[in-house]
Amino acid sequence: MTPPDLDRASALFLDVDGTLLEIAASPELVVVPPSLPGLLAHLHDQLGGALAIVSGRPLAEIDRLLAPFASSAAGEHGVAVRYDDGTLEEAPAGMAVPEPWREALQAAADRWPGVQMEPKPHGVTMHYRLAPDHANDVWRLVRALVSEDHPHFRLLPAREAVEISLRGRSKGSAVERLMGQAMFQGRRPIYIGDDFTDEAGMSMARDLGGVGLRVAESFSGDPAQVRSWLVRGAERLDGGAPRAVPTGISP
Ligand SMILES: [Mg+2]
Repeated sequence: MTPPDLDRASALFLDVDGTLLEIAASPELVVVPPSLPGLLAHLHDQLGGALAIVSGRPLAEIDRLLAPFASSAAGEHGVAVRYDDGTLEEAPAGMAVPEPWREALQAAADRWPGVQMEPKPHGVTMHYRLAPDHANDVWRLVRALVSEDHPHFRLLPAREAVEISLRGRSKGSAVERLMGQAMFQGRRPIYIGDDFTDEAGMSMARDLGGVGLRVAESFSGDPAQVRSWLVRGAERLDGGAPRAVPTGISP
């Protein structure tokens, strides 16, 4: 679907990896264009604060990557939600992947070259982008740890990765919670994401009268096109005048 024009009644929900930023060989290697935090801050102001980051990364990671920009955000696929006033909501509080699971996953990552374990405050992600031959090994292991009817945890497939995540929370539940905040209310949500885990966010945005945009379909799979669309949106909200983007920095 062709991305709609941003207007003053829009609310933006943006995934990070594969949406705002190009996917890197491993999560710590992503490159943040220097103009991006300023662009997000400008849009955040233009939309009256109705801009949220919705990522699988922990909140602290999102903040570190996009600093000095900080806003409403959902981390770990909706397990942690932070509102614009800084209020944090983590649910269920204190619930995290058991230590013996983490140890088993780390031991496996040590055993399988290229497989990377990313510990998070609540969940754990096993990445096999650099070791596709071990995809089946990784899946066998996480399936052995997390039964399909486990009361607290579930497996979340992601791009060349699988996450052990808490049940009952998703990017969709995060969008719903954030849309209940005053600055989002009455707005038309536009959710942009690239991954399986974004589908819940997209369908919630649609349920709430908005749109869900897949990067692959609406932006040719290219985060640079997402950023260009955001720049054009900021210009439009500025009243048509081309926005002063620092020279030498492509969107
Ligand atoms: Mg993504």
